[in-house]
Amino acid sequence: MKKTALITGISGQDGAYLGQFLLNKNYKVIGSDRRSARSVNWRLRRLGIENKLIYEEMELGEIYEIQRVFKKYKIDEVYNLAAQSFVGASFNSPLNTSNITGLGTLRILETIRSLNPKIKFYQASSSEMFGDVLERKQKETTPLNPQSPYAISKVFSHYITQNYRNSYGMFASSGILFNHESPLRGEEFVTRKIIIGLIKILKNDIKYFELGNLYAKRDWGYAKEYVEAMWKMLQVKKPSDYVIATGKTYTIKKFIDIATNYLNMNVKWIGKGLNEKLIDIKNKKTIIKINPKFFRPSEVNFLVGNFSKAKKELGWKPKTNLKKLIKIMIDDELKYYN
Ligand code: NDP
Ligand code: GDP
Repeated sequence: MKKTALITGISGQDGAYLGQFLLNKNYKVIGSDRRSARSVNWRLRRLGIENKLIYEEMELGEIYEIQRVFKKYKIDEVYNLAAQSFVGASFNSPLNTSNITGLGTLRILETIRSLNPKIKFYQASSSEMFGDVLERKQKETTPLNPQSPYAISKVFSHYITQNYRNSYGMFASSGILFNHESPLRGEEFVTRKIIIGLIKILKNDIKYFELGNLYAKRDWGYAKEYVEAMWKMLQVKKPSDYVIATGKTYTIKKFIDIATNYLNMNVKWIGKGLNEKLIDIKNKKTIIKINPKFFRPSEVNFLVGNFSKAKKELGWKPKTNLKKLIKIMIDDELKYYN
């Protein structure tokens, strides 16, 4: 029997890759986002799946919209990927972030509980929940210490998912995913911002671009591989929480160094603090500057995940290292430039 999956946040990076993955597994895939049920989304088009999905409009702030969709289809699995997902923006819109990224999850869980508690539920939890980390390598049992309205909303969703699992015996699991990137990553996130910026400089479209904190460290993996882990979490016997990560961590500065190296750019860092710059060695022109506007009121300085549980219980492990990920992102960006 063909299974039916509902993916909230179908228009986002992970929604697109998961949609593609589940279609390949012969699922009927319903994709929702907050706008109208339409197929014009650049990510879905790029993956060639825009005509293979069923679209539903489902604003996570509105429980009636959620109930309408759950009554319309016989759903087997729900992947809750929809969120106000940008940490930076959550400082400017903490209420909206809490309502969507936090309470949105509860609206779905309540709908499942009241309509059909047999539906399996996946929650997109985040490494940002570890925040100012309380353990060197973060795993499922590491205490949470969130540092932004986004992370606090994700903590709420994480705990309410556990609570519905424990209280009502629902199959509700969370994937604690560390940062994952791809050519489909939103342009406001630092990896894609850097790659687009460097290519624009090479094409003479801009002279320089600005960043915030270069010294934060992130554990970056490849989004296309991470969506498989989401699916695996709903195929095991018992619901649980799993860290999905690469186990390696790098600064933003190192990310830039690998990218400029792959692009054969002859550059070097000069200066310190707010005056730190990346310059073109030949003409001494500045390529990257620091702008404090991109600093966060409260920063997460260091993240690195321990994915042993996922490896053992799901048979999942990362395949793409940072160098390869940067190559994939740059090659794709160049292909679609203009
Ligand atoms: P994106 O920002 O690319 O996608 C978010 C999706 O949520 C979009 O489809 C967006 O729709 C939708 N959405 C936003 N607000 C609402 C709303 N009010 N009602 C309904 N839908 C809404 O995120 P990613 O694909 O990168 O991430 C997927 C999930 O995983 C998110 O929950 C994110 O927080 C989480 N996560 C991501 C990590 C990462 O590194 N990528 C790491 C850990 C967790 P629209 O197109 O209309 O904006
Ligand atoms: P996050 O880990 O979910 O917040 O993912 P981001 O890609 O948004 O940010 C990763 C890290 O890059 C954070 O520590 C940011 O402070 C840092 N960073 C430095 N400059 C920038 C910038 O210009 N934009 C973004 N988005 N992040 C930046």
